Amino acid sequence: MIVVQRDCTSFYRQALGVHTLLRVRGKALGFGRVRACLQRAQPSLYCVSSSSSLSLRAQGLRPITAYTMPSTAPMHGSGIVKFTNCRLVKDDSLVNGDLWVSSITGKILNGQEILYEHRTAPEEIVDLGGRILSPGLIDTQLNGAYGFDFSVIPEDGALAYGKGVMRVNRNLVATGVTSYLPTLTSQRPDVYHQALPLLGPSGGARDASCGSESLGAHCEGPFLNPTKNGIHNASVLQEPIRVISSLAACYGPDNLDNPSPIKLITLAPELPGALSSIQALAALGIQVSIGHSEASYEEAKSGIKAGASMITHLFNAMRPLHHRNPGIFGLLGTASSSIPKPYFGIIADGIHLHPTSIKIAWNAHPDGLILVTDAMRLAGMPDGTYDWTNGSRIIKNGALLTLEENDKIAGSSIQLVDCVTNFLNWTGASVPKALKAVTETPARMLGLEDVKGTLKEGADADLVVLDLQGAAEGERKLVVDEVWKFGTKVFARD
Ligand SMILES: [Zn+2]
Repeated sequence: MIVVQRDCTSFYRQALGVHTLLRVRGKALGFGRVRACLQRAQPSLYCVSSSSSLSLRAQGLRPITAYTMPSTAPMHGSGIVKFTNCRLVKDDSLVNGDLWVSSITGKILNGQEILYEHRTAPEEIVDLGGRILSPGLIDTQLNGAYGFDFSVIPEDGALAYGKGVMRVNRNLVATGVTSYLPTLTSQRPDVYHQALPLLGPSGGARDASCGSESLGAHCEGPFLNPTKNGIHNASVLQEPIRVISSLAACYGPDNLDNPSPIKLITLAPELPGALSSIQALAALGIQVSIGHSEASYEEAKSGIKAGASMITHLFNAMRPLHHRNPGIFGLLGTASSSIPKPYFGIIADGIHLHPTSIKIAWNAHPDGLILVTDAMRLAGMPDGTYDWTNGSRIIKNGALLTLEENDKIAGSSIQLVDCVTNFLNWTGASVPKALKAVTETPARMLGLEDVKGTLKEGADADLVVLDLQGAAEGERKLVVDEVWKFGTKVFARD
């Protein structure tokens, strides 16, 4: 059987569940060859539907034989899933509608085209009963979880490290986080050299059973200001004095090659060599975020002009706003005609920031706000005292994590969907605007706005079904009911 309508070959390959669809006299052909054959009106070509036939004629092509495909029978093996009775997250609204996806390509399909042009019924219909269908959530700062720390190389080396990453991926996806940036705190160079090759983008195989997908590593350090080290070990912090050779010596020269396993680097722009380093990293396609920094407003602005595009956990580990020097926070108030306003990470866990600070930042630059967990390996573990990397110990008390030696906040153990719930209740934002901070906005920051964080046709079918529940005192709560990765269901709540 031959499909001859323009631009529909991949669709029919999915719909019919066959790999070799295009045949002329028994020989498999690519679409370009088929089109060439059509233009010569080769007599052994067949068209699968009358509408395709008409379309071909409209293009001046001549199908020889028309075969009408049944229009109502489910397409077993087509892998096409139709979500119906949904509230879809689109721009700043929730829109009643359907969504069609393919579990074979793992992408979002054009429902109109399938229904009216190809007359194909889905293999599976999922009725959401009015629940919310959102793009999968994206966490751009996750240090570890489920007992695994991305910054620690196990004694068994790379094999054990790789298994740990897989364990995080398979568990994390059930929380609605379908892609993320595995994040390293400041480390000695040998840790980067071993870890980074195992933290690069992991979605190439488009295998839903692998769970959540790395979009590349986030290196938070070690080019940070020692006075704003937070929980980072001050003895491993560096200055990027020799710019690219400093960066290469630290992260490993192979890890700066294009494509790099690194997607984002947090550094302090006031350090010697930092501005030139930002320029060099931007030229390599690696995003730079300002953080753990003493930067004045002017120094921060220079960082943005050099190519930095984000601020790491705004307010935390930086100078506070001063009325005569607004510091890094001042970037949110700068006119867009002066510099591109940066994106900024916010930890909405109720511990790192006062809710009003979050609301002020959101009002200043709503399109830049990205909710992050900054969660670490104790996320999901019972309360208690745990050994930390550099001989220190961490006390976990609920969501609160502190260093035993000085009571400093030591990261978070919150889930990203709970950050969205907090943000909803603290700011009064609408649900789609809150979800934007974990979908569309981080995808845009990473240059992946057509692939992730959206329900647009052609994007990856990474989806979360959310139930919006009422909570005490009129508060709202988002609960993850189902998670779909590359068009395949990978989690359903009991
Ligand atoms: Zn930090």
